[in-house]
Amino acid sequence: SNSDSVVGRFAPSPTGPLHLGSLVAALGSYLFARHAGGRWLLRMEDIDLPRVVPGIADDMLATLEILGFQWDGEVLYQSKRTEIYDAALQDLIKKGVAYLCGCTRSEIANISSAPAPGSDDIVYPGLCREGIAPGKVERAYRVKVYDEVLSFIDGVMGRYSQVLTASCGDFVIRRADGPFAYHLAVVVDDAATGINQVVRGSDLLSSTPRQIYLQRLLGYSTPSYAHLPLVTGPDGAKLSKRDNAVSLAANVDLRKDGGALLLAALCFLGQAPPLFLNGAPQQEILHWAVLNFKPENIPRISSPFAPA
Ligand code: GLU
Repeated sequence: SNSDSVVGRFAPSPTGPLHLGSLVAALGSYLFARHAGGRWLLRMEDIDLPRVVPGIADDMLATLEILGFQWDGEVLYQSKRTEIYDAALQDLIKKGVAYLCGCTRSEIANISSAPAPGSDDIVYPGLCREGIAPGKVERAYRVKVYDEVLSFIDGVMGRYSQVLTASCGDFVIRRADGPFAYHLAVVVDDAATGINQVVRGSDLLSSTPRQIYLQRLLGYSTPSYAHLPLVTGPDGAKLSKRDNAVSLAANVDLRKDGGALLLAALCFLGQAPPLFLNGAPQQEILHWAVLNFKPENIPRISSPFAPA
């Protein structure tokens, strides 16, 4: 494959069975990659070990396979990559941008300013930048951030900008209880596997500036980004991965109804599958969808999932 060809990926966290939100992320990332004639890789984000449910990763792979998705190469498991994340952490320490913090979450909540809209963290004001206060124990590793506007053009959502000092402050890259933070792992893995196209749910839109910042610190190139609308409940609230009511495996006979589910997911993504695909095999539906994919028709607004 040549160096400018597209490499996309689907990177679910195996903390619960594949649900409608993850189906949309799988389909969206698949369509973006395959429509461009690119590769589509799979990565299990099982780094957050205490929350990982045994058997779920295999279950997810089986579900994707029944739905007709074909991925390239071997599935990458974050739980096996601790040394690689540690090397990135050491690199950041050596560059003088990572430091140990001794603050607890409740201490930070007490001193923190309110985060900017769209951010999901409390703002850490960098208390331990020059060293941990006496009497405190070493907890998380954080990375220093500066007052600069980080901007990118999202393939679905348009321009998105953030100033990290206002939205999160110096953020955690290795947690006090041991695991590397999602932001570090995702950036290291995307770079290591040559990912140049990231397509995922828009719950991660506000995380993207942090990831772009880490890519710059680590000397990686920045992939293109496209954030998809989220599947909400009928009331408009976000569906949770642990919400078993939307688990695909539990409620749907995928061999029988997988095609209808794919058609509904295509409609959710603003694609308009023709009627002749009703009852067609999964493979044929995906084939049509790849050929006729129109990313510009993906809605920006999250909405409930309407069954076909
Ligand atoms: N593992 C994340 C999730 O399931 C997605 C990470 C990503 O696509 O960058 O929400």
